[in-house]
Amino acid sequence: MNAKYQNKILIVDDNDEIRNSNAELFRNNDYDVLEAADGIEALSIVNNEARIDVILTGIDMPRMNGFELIEELKKNPQGEKIPVVVCSHLGREGDREKMLAIGAKDFILQGIDSPAEMVHRVAIVIKQGSYLLRIDPLDLDAKKMAEDFNYPANFKCKNCSTNLALKVKFNPTREISAKIICPECGLNH
Ligand SMILES: [Zn+2]
Repeated sequence: MNAKYQNKILIVDDNDEIRNSNAELFRNNDYDVLEAADGIEALSIVNNEARIDVILTGIDMPRMNGFELIEELKKNPQGEKIPVVVCSHLGREGDREKMLAIGAKDFILQGIDSPAEMVHRVAIVIKQGSYLLRIDPLDLDAKKMAEDFNYPANFKCKNCSTNLALKVKFNPTREISAKIICPECGLNH
């Protein structure tokens, strides 16, 4: 078993050329890529996927546009935790402020921000609110936790033997969710 952790991105745009080129860009950067042509299709993918790490969406789309998609995601138990980055190819004045005001995490200008810049900024958004903490297998309740929850006693990854870490994530109301993962291969333990 050598399941390498891949960030999963959902790319939403009705323009095939732009969507395909962004999909290729993120695939080349080791992302698992899902694609949707509008907000309706994006929501149905969100409802059917166990995990999506980030959504990159355009603004103008038929049926459901980027604004409406962000509003719908907020009401969706699967979608409310997924950070959204807006990718605009029109560069319309005011869109940035509007999108950030309703909860988009970043606003990228297609064709002005370079592809490398786009990948970099999406990676930052994925990392926001999430922290990796080292586990000391000899410290405090670590040994008991390993026994009670069937973690390896030395807290090393079953897959690649890297020291496991506690991944802590804050949601907007500062509630914490945490899991034990391998920082190297991403395996959940
Ligand atoms: Zn590992």
